[in-house]
Amino acid sequence: MEYINAFKAVVAAVCAALTALWGWFGWVVVAWIVLMVIDYVTGSAAALRAGVGLSRLEAICLTHYHGDHIFGLPGLLQTIACQGRTRPLLLAGPQGLENFWAVMRLLAGPLPYPVIPTEMPPEGLWFEGGATLSAVPTRHRVPSQGYCFRLPRAGRFDPQKARALGVPLRDWKRLQQGESLEVGGRTVAPGDVCGPARRGIKVVFSGDTAPCPALEDAARDADLLICDATYAGEALAPEAARYGHSTFRQTAALAARAGARRLWLAHYSPRIEDPEAALPLAQAVFPAAECGFDGKSVTLPFTES
Ligand SMILES: [Zn+2]
Ligand SMILES: [Zn+2]
Repeated sequence: MEYINAFKAVVAAVCAALTALWGWFGWVVVAWIVLMVIDYVTGSAAALRAGVGLSRLEAICLTHYHGDHIFGLPGLLQTIACQGRTRPLLLAGPQGLENFWAVMRLLAGPLPYPVIPTEMPPEGLWFEGGATLSAVPTRHRVPSQGYCFRLPRAGRFDPQKARALGVPLRDWKRLQQGESLEVGGRTVAPGDVCGPARRGIKVVFSGDTAPCPALEDAARDADLLICDATYAGEALAPEAARYGHSTFRQTAALAARAGARRLWLAHYSPRIEDPEAALPLAQAVFPAAECGFDGKSVTLPFTES
């Protein structure tokens, strides 16, 4: 909870922020009011190590159904049940989710909350506060998808305009959050008192994938791209292509072409003993590349451009 409280303090200071935590082949994404887990291997351990309360969990997002991404799911669902959850939990995944869930629910046992499987509508999902989550087609040996998480930022609020229109102070926040109001018999819309929408925050997770145009498009100007980097050296590029994965250099090149601001490499082959030693292969193409690792976190502030 200390972590969440610290996060809220950052939110208060910079209006909003996004924290992404790498956790043992699984992702925990915290954004003010939205918490989601992307793939899961080791039950709730990663989230608990990161100090994130699962009571706030809104969605579990699966990138594909290979064992190294889903074996922890029954344990995670049971842990959530033990915490007394009764409200529904979203389970997102690529094609085949219904069949996958039919098996997984037997392993998870009876749960005191409904799990809602969704293969994700093309327009994505909306969460309270305006955050959106959409699927990104990726290239692996089986149906797979990455995820694009966006946190919008409203235009700058103009108090003088709000006062001139007679909007009471207590209602300013509703307008800032995109709600229209009736004031003195007329409608005041957010656009009447706010400037144009400002740059928000975007985080893209690839899951297991070879480089592909859809992922590159999604990563365009992303604040953080977390991407498959299963193989270190280019000598293994043919093997990466055969198994639907990426090399350090390929991932870095994709991040550079997309104009991403940060890149975390992920999903290292067991043959890579020390990912940091191989990092220069990626940094030669994308200097800001970093190695993702268990428990890694970053706070992403809003920026103006
Ligand atoms: Zn896989
Ligand atoms: Zn994998």
